[in-house]
Amino acid sequence: MPTLMVSVSGIRGIVGDGLDPHTIVKYTSAYSDFCGKGKIIVGRDARITGEMVNSIITGTLLAKGNDVIDIGICPTPTVLYNVKKLGAVGGIAISASHNPNEWNALKLLNSKGEFMTLEENKQMLELLNTSNEKYELWDKIGKLTSFADGLKNHMHEVLKMKYIDVEAIRKRKFKVLLDCVNGAGVYIMSELLKEFGCEVIELNCEKSGIFPRLPEPIPENLTKTMEAVKMHGADLGVVVDPDVDRLVLITDKGEPFSEENTIAQAVRFVLSKEKGSVVVNLSTTRAVDDIAKKFNCKVFRSPVGEANVVSKMQEVDAVIGGEGSGGVIFPALQYGRDALVGTAIVLQHLVEFGGSISELKDAMPIYFIAKRKIKLGDVNPDAIIEKLISKYNSESINTEDGLRIDAEDHWVHFRKSNTEPIIRCIAEAKTEDQANAFIDKYFSEIKELM
Ligand code: MG
Repeated sequence: MPTLMVSVSGIRGIVGDGLDPHTIVKYTSAYSDFCGKGKIIVGRDARITGEMVNSIITGTLLAKGNDVIDIGICPTPTVLYNVKKLGAVGGIAISASHNPNEWNALKLLNSKGEFMTLEENKQMLELLNTSNEKYELWDKIGKLTSFADGLKNHMHEVLKMKYIDVEAIRKRKFKVLLDCVNGAGVYIMSELLKEFGCEVIELNCEKSGIFPRLPEPIPENLTKTMEAVKMHGADLGVVVDPDVDRLVLITDKGEPFSEENTIAQAVRFVLSKEKGSVVVNLSTTRAVDDIAKKFNCKVFRSPVGEANVVSKMQEVDAVIGGEGSGGVIFPALQYGRDALVGTAIVLQHLVEFGGSISELKDAMPIYFIAKRKIKLGDVNPDAIIEKLISKYNSESINTEDGLRIDAEDHWVHFRKSNTEPIIRCIAEAKTEDQANAFIDKYFSEIKELM
């Protein structure tokens, strides 16, 4: 079975086995009709299939009569930034994010330079069957422009961001170990850190576009990176995923700062500057609530996914938001997860905190998250989640995205996967043992419900 997944996070598949030229033409044509006439920004991450996918997308958009501005290899947030900056009608970021080498994807943006909403996606998909038939005559096709400054412009905007004092950061002379997994981060992250006066030690910063390890920035994939931070005596490790929307930090002791803490520390920093609402997804650490409480600020939860977090942030006019997987959304720059923004915030935060990043970690609320997949076989995941909802109806629950139960000493979030017959179960408690014990408890309850 060829693999192609269509969701709010984009059109994702294995190249040569699902994400094929005719499929790319079909979706790009529908997307063009959705956007209408005007210029469309195209950028791609570093993976080796990027050029092929880019050529087909660009050719299709030109045939549709759209002008294309190609900003080359760059982070996904750089595509978002340029859509807004250049007044485009849309943008396509070609990246399968943290998926391995064989995958690629089209991440589709609206004219505001944000991920398309659920509603916009629906409108676009309705055009799928008619779009292929309509192309422009020879003298009405679009023009292609290469725009090499797209990346630099994004970086300069980050350096000018509010609350960021570049001179003060330069004085700290941070020694940073940078791991870009040979992805798009190679094209900007080292330069950004050097602008902040950092001494940069590069690991997996080759322009090969081939990931030397599994690209998801989670601790089990970062053992060598953590060792390198310690070996080089770096002040911190900065790790980004292949398209640089997720930022994960490593302490000076060579330990995970914890991916959940990337957003938690950003919340702590921004709320110390301005009071306002915070939005994180339903799977994000409770540390965010504890921090917001100290500042007398409110936390709102959204379903998982950047588009959902952004919608909620706009609804409640949040000052900071994001996702526990390392995604920081700071609306002062843009409504999208951005590891360049996250890096600037953590460096400024460390300057104002005064201590090391391991000391900052100790100053954060301590929680442990345990994650597990529950295999269901033929059992319908929706039915199981419904049964859980009726069982826990009298507790403090949220059912906007599966089921989240909030108890005094822990929370748990059950979500069905869109791609496999499984339920994802995430539990957080004060210790690792407790988190695992809660997962075991819910596991046996689900077994009984099956
Ligand atoms: Mg990503």
